[in-house]
Order: sequence, then structure tokens, then C-alpha cells
Amino acid sequence: MPPSVSRSVTGRATRLVALLATSLAAGAAFVAAADSRSLAAPFSNAYPADGDTGLRAPARYFLRRAWVQLTRNMAATPLPATVALDIGGMAAQPFTVAWIGHASLLVRAGDVWIMTDPMLSEYATPVPPFGPKRLTPLPIDPDDLPHIDFVLISHDHYDHLDLPTLRRLARQPGGPPRFLAGRGLSSWFQREVGIASEDFDWWQSTRAGALGLTFVPAQHSSGRGIVQKNHTLWGGWIIEHDGQRLYFAGDTAFSAHMFRDIRDRAGPIDVAALPIGAYRPREWMRFEHLDPGEAVQAHVELGARRSLAMHWATFQLGDEEPITPSHDLAAALQVRGVGGFDVVSVGGTLTVAPAGHPETLTDAGSARSSRDPRRPCAGAALPFPRTAGC
Ligand SMILES: [Zn+2]
Repeated sequence: MPPSVSRSVTGRATRLVALLATSLAAGAAFVAAADSRSLAAPFSNAYPADGDTGLRAPARYFLRRAWVQLTRNMAATPLPATVALDIGGMAAQPFTVAWIGHASLLVRAGDVWIMTDPMLSEYATPVPPFGPKRLTPLPIDPDDLPHIDFVLISHDHYDHLDLPTLRRLARQPGGPPRFLAGRGLSSWFQREVGIASEDFDWWQSTRAGALGLTFVPAQHSSGRGIVQKNHTLWGGWIIEHDGQRLYFAGDTAFSAHMFRDIRDRAGPIDVAALPIGAYRPREWMRFEHLDPGEAVQAHVELGARRSLAMHWATFQLGDEEPITPSHDLAAALQVRGVGGFDVVSVGGTLTVAPAGHPETLTDAGSARSSRDPRRPCAGAALPFPRTAGC
């Protein structure tokens, strides 16, 4: 075979292998959703959804996502800004939360630092560089993170349970954090991270001083491969400190019944961190992820005093454009006449304040009260609509 033909064939073969590998990687995070009925799965959603057969995530979806990953130049794609994370400012507050991308929150509660679904990697995939690549940079050098005391895991999909990040945290100076996760993950943690997680059933709590942590239901699924679907439990977390409550929803679809149960059983929610991305195609994403309109309804059902958008624009996992969730959220808030749902830059923070005290939103390096009528809509400098108080 002439060298040029050989190179051409080799190039096509390499591309095909890459396409298949990327497809596999992109699919792995969601294949868990493909058949939640498989192999005597011990866990299922607590709030059955009409029409949810458990069969979804068709092959054509993964091929389409893989093709986008391989061919799309994301350089011109509008994205939210990233602002430097203000660790000193967070430490000065009694209770505050920062969005550091995807479902990763950094929480300061008293003298304790908490991370949810810590994801500091460039790829959300078991086989990098094939699979979803980070779109928005981290707001902090991981070496500059404070000592993390607690890691709260929502579930085991690759974009939420990131092994390199967990291993990094296990080796952090000052000792590993406590890893808290859903039932069934302790053996994975012991084997892969070297430290067993403390596993929780829904509604199970633990306390540490003024801090209370409760694992609550989510409408989702779990699994990190083709088999073993729904063998570990998924959920969200209520972080309670000194009478205030922050709800981290993890990955969830909509259930009015579930959000009302969380409101009724956990107590009033001061701040809810709600996912708004990866919602198209709706034909099956609706059984796994909120769309922005549903996130607004979740905010209402929860009775949350404020909500914070997360799980968007960090990795492209749905068919919508990365910036679209913020636009759809702004539209849904306007149509519903609902306020108090913030879209912040990556690295933006929100204080969790007692009832009757306004929360403070810190974004783009300037602090303001999100209820300050003099600055009702400070999003003009940002490439996406600000929704709080607008
Ligand atoms: Zn998930």
C-alpha cells in the first residue's frame, strides 16, 4: 500500500476508533440511565414518573454527542464568566456557598469547609481525552483550596464522582476529608480512593457540632458501566448550619411530590442549589434532569428563599447549547413572575443568611445585596442574563 493511502486509512481508522471511544465515554456517564431495570438493581426512584420505562439513551444520542465532541470548535461558544474564588471572603462569613463549576459547590459552614461532587478534572469521562471536556475554567488553583473537611457525593456518574479529584482530596495536606455518599459506595471508595465512604440512606442524617448533614431523595439513576445499574444510591444533601439550610439537589429530574417532601421533612430551605443543564432531548432527559422551567418550579415547591443555578456550561452533556440554560431560566422566571433564582459566574458566591436578613451575592469581584433595589440587575457586564431580583 502506498504511504499516502496507508496514512489515509490509518487516519480514518484512528478517527473511527476515537469516535467509538468518545461515544463510549460520553455514553458511560449516562448509560446508567439506559436500563434502570437491569440485573436486579437494588435501588429505584422513590417517586415513580409517568412514562418512565427505564429504557432511554438511544445509541444515536451517544453517536451525536461523540460527533460534537470531536468536530465542534467550542472557542466561539458563549460561556459564563469565571471569577476568582474569594476564599478569604468566604471564610469571613458564617455560612456561604460558591459554585465552582458543574455540581461542585464549595461551602463554608462555621469553621468547616465542604465540597459537593468535587470535580477538578479536565474531562468528565473514564477514558480521557475521549469524552466531555471542561468548557469553563476552574475559579481557583486546586492547590489553593482550603482543607476540605467533608465531601458530599450525590451519585456515582462520572461527572459527579471524579476519581482523580477524590484521590487528590484524600492526599490533601492536613489529612483526608470525610467522604459521605449514598448507600453502596463505601467499597468503591475503599478500593479506588483508599478510604471508605460513610454511606447514607435517604433521610439519614449525621451531625458534627453545629453542622447537620442529611441525604435526601433525587429522581435519577446510578452506574459507571454497562452493567450494575442502580446498585448505589443517588440523592441530594441538606447542609444545616446554625439553623440555616442549604439544599444541594445533585442530579435530579422533576417531582413536585419529592420537592414538597424535602421542604416538609427537612425544614425551610434558605438556599437551594439546583441543576439547570443537560436537559435535551427531553424525551428521556426528563427522567434524569430538570430543565430550567422545572428548576423554577422546584424552587417554588421547595419554598426556597433563594436558589442558585448549577450543573450547566461546565461540560456539554445535553443537546442544548452550553449557554442556553441561563437564557431558558431567565425566560421561565419572567413568564412565571418568580424571582430569587441566581445565575452566578463560575466562582460566584452566595451567603446563606437567616430569614429576614438579605443574602449577599458576590460575583465578578464585587459584593452586593441581591435585594438591593439600587442595583437590581447587575448582570450587564456578564455574557448571560442575571436573574436575581430582575
Ligand atoms: Zn448523573
